[in-house]
Amino acid sequence: MTFLTPMTRCNTYADWNPWHGCTKISPGCKYCYVYRQDGMYGIGHSSSECRKTGNFDLPIKRKRDKTWKIESGKIVFTCFTSDFLLRDADEWRMQCWQMMRQRSDLWFYFFTKRIDRFRQCTPPDWGEGYDNVLIGCTVENQAMADYRIPIFKSLPIKHKSIIVAPLIGPVNLSAHLDPTIEEVSVGGESGSDARPCHYDWVLAIREQCIASGIPFRFHQTGARFVKDGRLYHIRRCFQLSQAHKADIDYRTGKCMTPEQVKFGWSDSDYPLEEP
Ligand code: SF4
Repeated sequence: MTFLTPMTRCNTYADWNPWHGCTKISPGCKYCYVYRQDGMYGIGHSSSECRKTGNFDLPIKRKRDKTWKIESGKIVFTCFTSDFLLRDADEWRMQCWQMMRQRSDLWFYFFTKRIDRFRQCTPPDWGEGYDNVLIGCTVENQAMADYRIPIFKSLPIKHKSIIVAPLIGPVNLSAHLDPTIEEVSVGGESGSDARPCHYDWVLAIREQCIASGIPFRFHQTGARFVKDGRLYHIRRCFQLSQAHKADIDYRTGKCMTPEQVKFGWSDSDYPLEEP
């Protein structure tokens, strides 16, 4: 999964991590930020061990005055310290779907590298998808794009985006892009061991999106960024803002969600820069 949250801590967004910990399944997981952060802060058990968190039922928690802890209208970045479709969480997921259905006044957005498990993970009333659930299929290289995206496109999901991150090699999405994809978002890898992200790769994906009329977003440079043959080391605090400064997004709003999803507020409601 891709780390997006530093940029998103503003009034429009909420984070919900019903469980924590994940197992690595593909090359993009090599320097997973969950493992890095756990290593920094020391959680006392392996990051590969998935555990329910104390916030498991956050969407249906209320304050003392009985109002919801997560206010109506927010975009809830869901399961960003794990993968929502992780097998280890199978016994807990159904309750999460129920909470999402109950809180139809919120938008739930999760990214997954396990889209091939989707059909076995959906609730009985999923149908063509819940209106308020957005799903990002994460791919990091051509092989994962060619494997995961056809599966993703075949699934009944109301809002689909492709998250190309961490971008660790050139990727051609042309064969996969059509109007069912609401956005493509690209980012490099963070962390001290990060693999380089080449700006040429980013621009090539952008061109593919423009050719298909699909909104494109460059959301972060990563820690090692190659531009015009030079390698740049970019500190974590600048990886989002530097990508934004490139000013190469296409048909996107300032919100870190697909353009085609209409949330009913103005751009001024959400700051783009990291606080
Ligand atoms: S799927 Fe995401 S959260 Fe899980 S190990 Fe891979 S990068 Fe980390």
